[in-house]
Amino acid sequence: MANMLGDDLKGLLNERQIDTPVARVVRALSGHGAVSTSQIARTTGLARSTVSTILGDLRRSALVVEVETRSPGLGRPALAHSLNPEAGTSVGVLLGLREVRIILADVAHNVISDVSMPFERDYAPDRVIRSVKHTIDNLYKEHSLPFSNLLGVGFAVSGPISPAGRIMPGSMLPNWVGVDLRALFEPVLQKPIFADNESHCAALAEMMWGAAIDVEDFVLFKLDLGVGGAIVANGRILTGAAGTAGEFGHIVHDPQGPLCRCGNRGCLELYCGGSAITDLAEKRLRRTTSLAEVVKGALAGDIGYRRLIEDAGEVAGRGLAMVGTILNPPLFVISGGLAEAGEILLAPLKTSYERYTLTKSQSTSDGFAPRFVVGRFLDNDNTMGAVGLVLRHHGRLT
Ligand SMILES: [Zn+2]
Repeated sequence: MANMLGDDLKGLLNERQIDTPVARVVRALSGHGAVSTSQIARTTGLARSTVSTILGDLRRSALVVEVETRSPGLGRPALAHSLNPEAGTSVGVLLGLREVRIILADVAHNVISDVSMPFERDYAPDRVIRSVKHTIDNLYKEHSLPFSNLLGVGFAVSGPISPAGRIMPGSMLPNWVGVDLRALFEPVLQKPIFADNESHCAALAEMMWGAAIDVEDFVLFKLDLGVGGAIVANGRILTGAAGTAGEFGHIVHDPQGPLCRCGNRGCLELYCGGSAITDLAEKRLRRTTSLAEVVKGALAGDIGYRRLIEDAGEVAGRGLAMVGTILNPPLFVISGGLAEAGEILLAPLKTSYERYTLTKSQSTSDGFAPRFVVGRFLDNDNTMGAVGLVLRHHGRLT
């Protein structure tokens, strides 16, 4: 039974040329999780009555189940629909700086497992292929899930990746530059492969489950060890011709500044990225430290650490001001490990944004000033987004 459901679902989700009303409803459910009939009608552009009929048929064939959702604070549970969790699974893999993380989730958006494997810095691709395959196999055995129902594997990559799946120069994974992800993983995993850079994946996670649900236009600005981001317009993440749209960390801040890993000089990341902050902190400590330790120290009141984060916020806001001048988005989602510092980062960031951008909040009518919020998933947004690549069918490598 589970296998039959899986086959139906694979066809409806992965064969994009199928554009029947049923396929549209199934894709809306896959992309949004538990949703009401009216939400599906809005997403698909189909009449509410058509959606109701289709949902009835899908329930009878067990591909869709009814679930109760409860909005916080509002007593009565509402009826929503979701794909049958038994109908399929999706795997997201983060190729991170020092770890490979794997999240297994079902098509109803429940996380089944979340494992992290530490790797030494600058790890090589061939070591990862075997670990990923082995871990995924074990997860399916451990949870007694049929591997045949795995719809696809999404990869979040620390660095830019071309739409064809090739890892581009400037990546934080130097040994992976030039690697074709699909050629590497498809023969081993024998499943559709999806991929995008980790900041784009983070934006997808915030759109699907986090701080930007139902927001069609926003900018995600990610301040972690590196600095990246994503531009979301009309509900879609902009990829760009080479896949590097939203690489805000490489906006040139000082053309005479230090050399960046991308080959340019004085990139924004060198002034407000986590690595720049930990480098300065290590000079004081005379030992290695982590971004998390610096943020924790700042939150506990350490004046020096606060100053480092405030200064990073000031520079970040200036970079973001250019983005704001170009795109004028209604929402900025500030993400990454540095965002854990909350207002210590946000206050100077917003002040310098306001100073340097074109549209000042005082000169716009009420409600048009951009909002700044901290992302919901600061720790695992990239891996969750990798799961989302499969569920939303974004970044399929063919
Ligand atoms: Zn750079």
